[in-house]
Amino acid sequence: MLRSINPFDQSPVGEFEIHNAGTIDKKLAAASKAFTSWKRQDYSHRAALMKRAGELLRQRKTEYARIVSTEMGKILAESTAEIEKCANGCDYFADHAAVFLKDQTIATEASKSLVAFQPLGPVLAIMPWNFPLWQVFRFAAPALMAGNVGLLKHAANVTQCALLIEKVFGDAGFPEGTFQSLLIESKDVAGIIARDEIMAVALTGSEYAGTQVAAAAGKNLKKTVLELGGSDPFVVLDDADLDLAAQVATQSRMQNAGQSCIAAKRFIVAEKISKEFTERFADKIKQLKQGNQLDPQTTTGPLARLDLAEQLEKQVQASVKQGARLITGGERQGCNFQPALLDNVKPGMVAFDEEMFGPVAAMITVKDEQEAIAMANASRYGLGASVWTTDLQRGERVAREIESGSVFVNSLMRSDQRLPFGGVKKSGYGRELAEQGIKEFVNTKTIYIR
Ligand code: NAP
Repeated sequence: MLRSINPFDQSPVGEFEIHNAGTIDKKLAAASKAFTSWKRQDYSHRAALMKRAGELLRQRKTEYARIVSTEMGKILAESTAEIEKCANGCDYFADHAAVFLKDQTIATEASKSLVAFQPLGPVLAIMPWNFPLWQVFRFAAPALMAGNVGLLKHAANVTQCALLIEKVFGDAGFPEGTFQSLLIESKDVAGIIARDEIMAVALTGSEYAGTQVAAAAGKNLKKTVLELGGSDPFVVLDDADLDLAAQVATQSRMQNAGQSCIAAKRFIVAEKISKEFTERFADKIKQLKQGNQLDPQTTTGPLARLDLAEQLEKQVQASVKQGARLITGGERQGCNFQPALLDNVKPGMVAFDEEMFGPVAAMITVKDEQEAIAMANASRYGLGASVWTTDLQRGERVAREIESGSVFVNSLMRSDQRLPFGGVKKSGYGRELAEQGIKEFVNTKTIYIR
């Protein structure tokens, strides 16, 4: 049984039967069958359906936002914004897939030589609960537009979201088998990856899940795209606009109750402005209102699961034992965790070395730009950094030095369908979104005609 629980008060939300072997066989067969005709549809037909999926999301956003918020704890405004982002993602890939995947003619001595981009087949997507709709649409919109079909293994605590997404595609008119949810446990994922029907695998999740999924896919020679964890640096140089930096720091670290892979997690601040920045940042964190995610006054909902809240509390306690100073927050009741600021964080401490997946900011003071870059790069992860400076050339120079899939200068690091998204180091490999994303799950086929 898969169980959904409202994390605010642990009340039950739903129970769902796990699919048995017979059901899984049927779904995999349906995916393979759907692919044989879906891959031949032209882009305009696929685009019309994808646009319809976007429209349905917009029409149903109030109903769906409540489902998302109740099931995983984010505040209603954030659920609504996430649904709108999914609808925009559907539109974007509906509008751009044909251009991104257009044949490329290459001049050779042949009468004609070209590169065609053709779909691979059924792709298994293993997805997390933190952006339970966006993570899936960010995979599905390009993958389906390219002519692939999708099978979703969603996180065990967001089965309502998994079923809702399947329904959106079904109601939009996607043929049976084009997009299906598999209600399975993570222990059964490797067996599905090994099945001949599955051609490729996308995972968004933790580093540990990344190692397991990549190993299973490697054993079966299947392509993977891995979007994993992060401990991203937010580098505040001595000439930064401190009001703006403190405001975006709070937003980046605390939105979604801190449960974002690309949330700024390590705040690396020049000594000269460290005291002033810390005061402004702490003031803003103290103004946050933690509580029931369905109450419009709440800015910070509960964490999605009890084990995650307990783990975060342990990380904070261990960091304090190692010498970090807790300036504000950190108290926990069930999944409800008061947004916190830790100062005096250094390499070797838990708050520096590990990903903190919740509303806890870690402050690190450095003497200059060179030390800031070294600290930013002293991490096993590299997903989405940001740099704060009023000198834009300096910002670009520092951005080029940081080991990360993305670096934003003077702007909130966020995913944007027009820009490729993904990590380096233990944050994973491959890219989602933009032209680079849609080309991950295609056969880049050379055709040579003498
Ligand atoms: P998680 O435990 O890795 O779960 C993610 C998905 O992987 C779930 O569907 C989970 O299923 C499945 N899974 C877990 N262990 C598995 C295994 N051994 N084999 C196969 N599948 C497995 O991650 P999470 O705690 O839900 O999500 C938080 C993590 O995701 C953080 O590290 C965060 O940074 C990362 N993340 C990364 C991105 C990105 O774009 N780079 C975006 C969002 C989140 P069950 O729920 O059934 O265990």
